[in-house]
Amino acid sequence: MGLFVQKYGGTSVGTTDRIKAVADKVIGFKKQGHDVVVVVSAMSGETNRLIALAKDMQEKPDPREMDVLVSTGEQVTIALLCMTLKDKGYDAKSYTGGQVKILTDSAHTKARIQNIDVENMRSDLSEGRIVVVAGFQGVDEHGNITTLGRGGSDTTGVALAAALKADECQIYTDVDGVYTTDPRVVESARRLEKITFEEMLEMASLGSKVLQIRSVEFAGKYNVPLRVLSTFSDGPGTLITLDEEYANMEQPVVSGIAFNRDEAKVSILGVPDAPGVASKILSAIGDANIEIDVIVQNVAADNNNDLTFTVHRNDVEKAASILEDISEELGARKVVTDDKIAKVSIVGVGMRSHAGVASRMFSALANENINIQMITTSEIKISVIIDEKYLELAVRALHSAFELDQAAE
Ligand code: ADP
Ligand code: ASP
Ligand code: MG
Repeated sequence: MGLFVQKYGGTSVGTTDRIKAVADKVIGFKKQGHDVVVVVSAMSGETNRLIALAKDMQEKPDPREMDVLVSTGEQVTIALLCMTLKDKGYDAKSYTGGQVKILTDSAHTKARIQNIDVENMRSDLSEGRIVVVAGFQGVDEHGNITTLGRGGSDTTGVALAAALKADECQIYTDVDGVYTTDPRVVESARRLEKITFEEMLEMASLGSKVLQIRSVEFAGKYNVPLRVLSTFSDGPGTLITLDEEYANMEQPVVSGIAFNRDEAKVSILGVPDAPGVASKILSAIGDANIEIDVIVQNVAADNNNDLTFTVHRNDVEKAASILEDISEELGARKVVTDDKIAKVSIVGVGMRSHAGVASRMFSALANENINIQMITTSEIKISVIIDEKYLELAVRALHSAFELDQAAE
């Protein structure tokens, strides 16, 4: 008999009827003799609703109070799920993050888990209870409520599975696994049987929000068997694996395509082509705690450079104003921004052993007349920045250029 940590996302618990259906699913596992710890998200739309309320009160809501507010969403769901489990004749007990005690650092709205007390959960399980834990939240050493960032219930699930040494962490959601790309964008996307941690980490960090990045990092670090499955249908889902045999097998060149619309481009034009200039520009941005993603520098004919980089869309105005401030000192000609961009990435461990992947990617985009504005690569991914309006076309073109719509042999 096993121990499973099962996480159910917002859509899966979006109505009281759906919560009742989740209860039936959990009871099904219990009846087979397994121990189950359930992690739930807030009902779908609830976290967004709470954030909007906060923004009505303060333009930049106080982070501590924001966490007090948004953590309530998950508290509603744990109570409702336990009520229905009890109504169906099963003993269950709900815990907020603080009650478990999921200890985090004090970085409100993006806290990291440091430790989890497992004694109470263990004694509940040994007494035959179903344990239900609020996702997305914890408590810091001073007793302040913290939250783990959007999508953070995935990380709660994986962290609990690691702490309890569960046999598997199962992420139940509204799709039946991890697909070659977002199935809501490309109809012919296919479910992957398995994907390596490394690839999943790239997919998540390049925009595939099916799993929060931190949950994948955590699962890789603690070797937690992790599976993504559908709440609404039965099936094997997708296993995220370290499996060496799989890693050594002949890999498809590209396993998946990720994309993201959250970035914007900032350029500073006509800066001198001299040592120290790029460092001055990028340190000023870094000092303001703005993360930079893709960077490109072009040397113009007159010995001046144009430096372009991307940042999160929320940071673009701040980044531009920092550049305006230093542009006189640098003798720059102009600062320009563009938030109508998107990043499309191909990901696959098979790229390590194949040549010509980039040219295949670029010619697929060229065939659709899509201009590439910036490029960045690493060992297992290639990303390009393109005009936002071509995003879906680009994803579809790449999906077929790398034959992802065809089942693996
Ligand atoms: P939950 O509320 O259960 O946490 P999310 O909305 O966070 O669910 O994640 C599931 C969604 O992730 C899917 O509905 C799908 O649109 C999206 N998604 C993006 N990329 C992928 C992918 N490669 N495979 C599967 N789903 C993906
Ligand atoms: N409810 C939180 C969110 O919407 C956490 C989660 O669902 O994982 O981001
Ligand atoms: Mg999610």
